[in-house]
Amino acid sequence: MKTSNSMKLVFPARSVNEGFARAAVSAFVSSLDPTVEELVDLRTAVSEAVTNCIVHAYRDRDGDVCVTCRAYPERRVTVTVKDRGCGIEDVHKAMEPLFTSMPGGERSGLGFTVMENFCDRVKVRSVPGKGTCVTLEKRFKDLR
Ligand code: ATP
Ligand code: MG
Repeated sequence: MKTSNSMKLVFPARSVNEGFARAAVSAFVSSLDPTVEELVDLRTAVSEAVTNCIVHAYRDRDGDVCVTCRAYPERRVTVTVKDRGCGIEDVHKAMEPLFTSMPGGERSGLGFTVMENFCDRVKVRSVPGKGTCVTLEKRFKDLR
């Protein structure tokens, strides 16, 4: 479908950039005038996806995260968060609530669950050894 507007960002997978990515996506979608709740939902989902690139994709090595936002007609937006990191062996299992490959620490295995609850659709494509691409889709409610 034809895109109404788009933007693309590339930044190093460092935690300092997580807030930046979230703020940039917010700024991009602000022209669509989403509700506070819609904005908070999308920001939260973007944080989870970007944090996963930082924590899991590259682990102790450097790498970039690419975030692409697209706005489509009828107030539909997609945010694609892509890395060229380690990839995910079993995407289905990784997306199960409470599954984490880093148990016993800060991780609770709820990142994908949060993304799915806060967006209308979450699509994950991943190739082990090559990287992961997460697409978040949200349709903002019609303006009254
Ligand atoms: P939490 O998000 O609650 O801190 P978590 O990151 O482990 O914990 P999810 O975000 O649901 O939980 O991710 C589940 C698992 O999927 C991760 O533990 C990790 O193994 C894998 N994973 C997620 N994103 C990536 C990625 N970009 N690259 C490689 N592996 C990933
Ligand atoms: Mg996570």
